[in-house]
Amino acid sequence: MLFRKSQLIGAGFAAFRATGLHRGLAPLTRGRGAILTLHHVRPAAPRDGFAPNALLEIEPAFLDAALARIRTLGFDLVSLEEVVRRLGDAGARPAVALTFDDGYRDLIEHALPVLRRHRAPFTAFVTAGFADRSARLWWVELEEAVRASTRLRVGIGDEMVDLPSAGAAEKTRAYKALYWRLRAGPEERLLAVIAELAGEAALDPAGLVRERCLDWDGVRSLAAEPLCTLGAHTRTHPMLAKHDAAFARHEMAESRRRLAEETGSPARFFSYPVGDPTSAGPREFAIAAELGFAAAVTTRPGMLFPAHAASPMALPRVSLNGGWQSLACLDVLLSGTPFAIWNRGRLVA
Ligand SMILES: [Zn+2]
Repeated sequence: MLFRKSQLIGAGFAAFRATGLHRGLAPLTRGRGAILTLHHVRPAAPRDGFAPNALLEIEPAFLDAALARIRTLGFDLVSLEEVVRRLGDAGARPAVALTFDDGYRDLIEHALPVLRRHRAPFTAFVTAGFADRSARLWWVELEEAVRASTRLRVGIGDEMVDLPSAGAAEKTRAYKALYWRLRAGPEERLLAVIAELAGEAALDPAGLVRERCLDWDGVRSLAAEPLCTLGAHTRTHPMLAKHDAAFARHEMAESRRRLAEETGSPARFFSYPVGDPTSAGPREFAIAAELGFAAAVTTRPGMLFPAHAASPMALPRVSLNGGWQSLACLDVLLSGTPFAIWNRGRLVA
């Protein structure tokens, strides 16, 4: 999914690289380290110029190089549990914890060999409904529906949207226009409109989930992996804050119950789907605490600081974004300076 804030942060990379400013500020701005967000790890698909979700995937070779670089920069690679523990340990070395959202097959196929080679602990946040084959990868459905079209006509609320989508540039514009218009409204409408577009494109939404997402056997093999901590990521991947409290609570509790039922161990950590302020806010943080999670992560960008020990249900993360697969960008990100500037000098957003 697209994150406007991340795109703005990205625009500053060149300036940092040119000036080296981030290296001077890093001791102040990198704090205790970071929790990294990853989604797909797989070889790059042949590009047709239309890849609106490319920011959600990195190549295995970049993961390999990034893990080595993270240690060179002075961070320990630790589990989520340990990075949270270190928030309250003034003498601890800065640390990075790796998190993979959604539960994709390529985590086992392409990421795990790299993670094992580096002995890097990681947390896999599994959406129970993807493993159950009952939830929808709506952002992939939207991408494939736009790819298959040359013109899109669809009603959104009481408005008829009519967008050309013939070439890569038109498709990219059409995807962004639909994505942000639908994200701004209720989730039921987003799902209904995308289902209509997917139907017109003769897509098989359940097939997309089967093709991309781990089934429960796959999740159990992750549970048996010593480097892996399993975490919960809801049942159907909703933007929780758009729903009533009972629905949000059920989604969060049910995902943990299904994980425990299928793997035999209860998840202690939680990741809010989409994870921005329109998807997870104070109400969701309170529910996560009531349900007894040890910590929960958002996609609000930022490094970790001792003050985060007081808000373990709202931890920020740093996206290892497919748009910036270079070690120079990683150096800038993990210096923490882009987030300090975005947050207008406040280190804890
Ligand atoms: Zn997710």
